[in-house]
Amino acid sequence: MAKTDLKFGKKLKKYGAVDFNACYNCGTCTAVCALSNEKDSFPREMVRYSVLGLSEDVKGSLKPWLCYYCGECTAYCPQEAKPGELMMSLRRYLTSHYDWTGLAGLLYRNLAAYLVAFTLIIGGIVGLYASNTFQFEEWMHYGHLFEMLAIGGVFAVIILPNIIRMWYSTVWKPTKKFKLKFYFKAISELLVHMFTQKRSLSCDSDTKNKIWWFEHFVLVLSYLALLFTTVFLDWFSATNTIVVVAGYVFSGAIFVVTTDFVIRRMRKRSEKSTFTHPSDWFFVIWLMLMGFSAFAVRLLVDFEMLQSTFWVFLIHITVLVQWALIIVPFGKWTHFLYRSFAMYFDKVNKLSK
Ligand code: SF4
Ligand code: SF4
Repeated sequence: MAKTDLKFGKKLKKYGAVDFNACYNCGTCTAVCALSNEKDSFPREMVRYSVLGLSEDVKGSLKPWLCYYCGECTAYCPQEAKPGELMMSLRRYLTSHYDWTGLAGLLYRNLAAYLVAFTLIIGGIVGLYASNTFQFEEWMHYGHLFEMLAIGGVFAVIILPNIIRMWYSTVWKPTKKFKLKFYFKAISELLVHMFTQKRSLSCDSDTKNKIWWFEHFVLVLSYLALLFTTVFLDWFSATNTIVVVAGYVFSGAIFVVTTDFVIRRMRKRSEKSTFTHPSDWFFVIWLMLMGFSAFAVRLLVDFEMLQSTFWVFLIHITVLVQWALIIVPFGKWTHFLYRSFAMYFDKVNKLSK
């Protein structure tokens, strides 16, 4: 018999869920959802699990990741139970369930924890600067070294174990099946969804949604390209014109797209930007700051002014460290990865049946 977690609803509220207890199970949300179908029926089922406290069923489900938060279900719900927001909150809840460190949950549930973590990093960098430990060139060198170590370290210590935990909860535990050939067969799902997120195009066929998808697509490509340019081609020290121009283009694109995202959230133009959790703000604002500060640092390098305006580099490195150690491993950035793996695992599960 399924176990009931009587405090599940209360827990979900800490992850941003609102009003879902008002649901009277009419099914309108599932009927209007463009991504729901016979095999993958949601969000009504997830609302039911949440109301009944079936937390183990939620943990074993990939459905919260199949939702792209277009908000149609919320718009049509006769009870104003906000099923779209519930799906978003379940993704935050699942992120903290997959995370072995417990830090993702702590940060999602406590704004104060986020602020303390950000402040500690600011304090560390200001303290390091005040101690005169590093000269100008050393700051540049160690900044670049940090990027490389952070990527490798965060991936090996946090992200990889968490993806294995996700696999255990959503593939192994419910099916108890493992056939390697299905993992090879389904690999294209992972790559296609990771790079294109094309499923969100089916969410809504209007022009606004297509623009939103295109901006996401540009953002993902620019982010990955800037990562490659700064980490592997050492953009801030590069002299090759193609590398220099590419860095400007990618960082500029990140800044432009994220600025538009911030404006959308501020204006609450669509259902999906009506409810914004602090983690959503941190993700989009820090990405915007990353694009802007990287662009500014390289511009100052080109005009040979970086040494006299070193505070710009200090701001960039602070934003970078906060991004790499807080937002990437424990914040909204992981949603991009978990969603891609959810599509992959979902395909594996279907092949195994
Ligand atoms: S439309 Fe609203 S009331 Fe109906 S099942 Fe969905 S969440 Fe519940
Ligand atoms: S937010 Fe959109 S994709 Fe998600 S469940 Fe609701 S209608 Fe479906």
